[in-house]
Amino acid sequence: MSVSPYNILVSPPDVILTLLAQGLIQQYDKLKDNYSIIRQNETELEPLLISALPRLSALYMCEGKEDKVASVHTVMEMATQPVKEWGIDYFEKEDFPYREIILIEPETLVPTLESLELAREPGGYGEDQILEKKYHNQVRKLVKAARSRKDELYTSIREFIVRHPLVTSQELEEWKDSLKFPKARKDIASFYREIPSQWTHNNQQVHRCSHCGGLLRPVRDKTRYPDGLCVVSHCRRKGVFPKTNETLLADEMKLLNSQLLTYWVGPGLDEIEIYDAAQKVGRNVKLYPDSDACDVALDGLAVGIDAKSYTSALMLINRLNTSIGKLANYERKIIAISDELEDEAGTYMATLTFQKSGAAKNLEFMTVSALINSIKSGHI
Ligand SMILES: [Zn+2]
Repeated sequence: MSVSPYNILVSPPDVILTLLAQGLIQQYDKLKDNYSIIRQNETELEPLLISALPRLSALYMCEGKEDKVASVHTVMEMATQPVKEWGIDYFEKEDFPYREIILIEPETLVPTLESLELAREPGGYGEDQILEKKYHNQVRKLVKAARSRKDELYTSIREFIVRHPLVTSQELEEWKDSLKFPKARKDIASFYREIPSQWTHNNQQVHRCSHCGGLLRPVRDKTRYPDGLCVVSHCRRKGVFPKTNETLLADEMKLLNSQLLTYWVGPGLDEIEIYDAAQKVGRNVKLYPDSDACDVALDGLAVGIDAKSYTSALMLINRLNTSIGKLANYERKIIAISDELEDEAGTYMATLTFQKSGAAKNLEFMTVSALINSIKSGHI
């Protein structure tokens, strides 16, 4: 099977375009009517535009094209042309839904309505929000055809992915068979990729992380990290874990693509820990119920739990104040925060508690370990 050249990108091309639309709008809001004063340095460009630009450059490069976007002024000019004319093959494809759109009005230099629509579509600003939505939509769309089995399949697919950042090809095939939903085979295959050779150890061996099941890639500092470091950043934040005692060979293994490692496996570590703990004490618990109404539900609609691992409490509470999604359907609504984010002074939790308003006003906040203790002791 041919490998897509886009696999090397941090984000897929459609996500890069959405991020760029968001960046341009953010920049426009800051400067309003005078684009000509934009200078290309980090203090004057808005953060989303700063992250969109190198991603767009990488897109040109992975298609073997000359990088046209070294200057922000060129990007502004390009944005007044339809996306299909930017010289990017991916955006020219007949089936690319945004090929005709123009991000900035050529005459007034105001973001177009389509640009605003594109930017709003993920339900929030920022790359993580865009990617999270993209994969949820992909899996939701996929399982829709299964009708009565759709929620069960959604949970199975997401749970497998979160628990198996690294799999043997055989395990993956057996699991695909066990789903009894042939339609999903192609999408699931697209979630996994070959192991990059620079991520193997002696003689093409692969090290599996004993904490999250991810891959430990070799690093220069062999004294401190003899087994390597985990590719899942959330896992690295939780500690340094040794490899498992298995002999795994690269050509027999598959690794999840980077976006899913970051946006599903990382946050999924807490979700699975809560779910497993509740199941162990015999609770009536569901993972990703109703095609992801929340992360973990106890006793039907009695308790809904979402695990969050934003490093910024302010960003998290701003987002929750705007919307808590389907968590609103649950009687008790709990946001579980990764243990490693709680600081000694309690600033993180205080920010959440004192700044909650709007959609977030009935939320309860607790750390993952406090929540697990309450579930075990029957308080929740
Ligand atoms: Zn790990």
